[in-house]
Amino acid sequence: MTSRNGLSTDVRRLIIEYQRVNGGGSTEYDRKIVYRVECNGCYSVLSDRCMRAVLLSDRTVDLYSTDLFPNSVGFVNGDYSASYCACRVRDIGCLVCGKVLGYHVNLPCKTCLAQENNGHYWMFRSSEVRAQAIFIEVTETMDFPLYWAFVRATDNYGGEFFEGDGTYAAKLSCKLAVKLPASIPLFVREPRQLYIEAYTNDNKISHYQFANYSR
Ligand SMILES: [Zn+2]
Ligand SMILES: [Zn+2]
Repeated sequence: MTSRNGLSTDVRRLIIEYQRVNGGGSTEYDRKIVYRVECNGCYSVLSDRCMRAVLLSDRTVDLYSTDLFPNSVGFVNGDYSASYCACRVRDIGCLVCGKVLGYHVNLPCKTCLAQENNGHYWMFRSSEVRAQAIFIEVTETMDFPLYWAFVRATDNYGGEFFEGDGTYAAKLSCKLAVKLPASIPLFVREPRQLYIEAYTNDNKISHYQFANYSR
């Protein structure tokens, strides 16, 4: 459905929601940008639901974090105590090329638990990965960065996509899921404009082929 100004109902709703998030009707978490993070060694995609993070205990460490276990990484060795606090952590490496990328917080320490916690326990060191902001293609000439306000939380996934315990379920469960309809495309800019897949709020997969602006 297209309105008089040429914008579809989906797009008009998106713009209103975006203005609400930007206009203070949201938290700092809501306004954080969603990143695609790739391995710096082999450029395979590690996760499309990452956030730029800074350690509260050491602000010089630049990280990207995610909340869901990425099926693109495996554990390296055993766990050990983090150098900045008493968290127990375990290194994670790329399943394709073996590069050590960061760590998983196995057991958060009391100091970290007492701080505001966003539930992101998978950390990629920015020196080991390549990160790209994800954008929402609003129209051919307008785009917004994808905020975490538009990402579905792990407890509101629902649906048949995330049931089961096989490899397929594992692959699906760490995919980006958004509170947007499938008609709204998502993309990254580097190294060239590339559309990315995400589960949408109508339980479809968004992809460029669903884009309807060329009509
Ligand atoms: Zn800690
Ligand atoms: Zn790799």
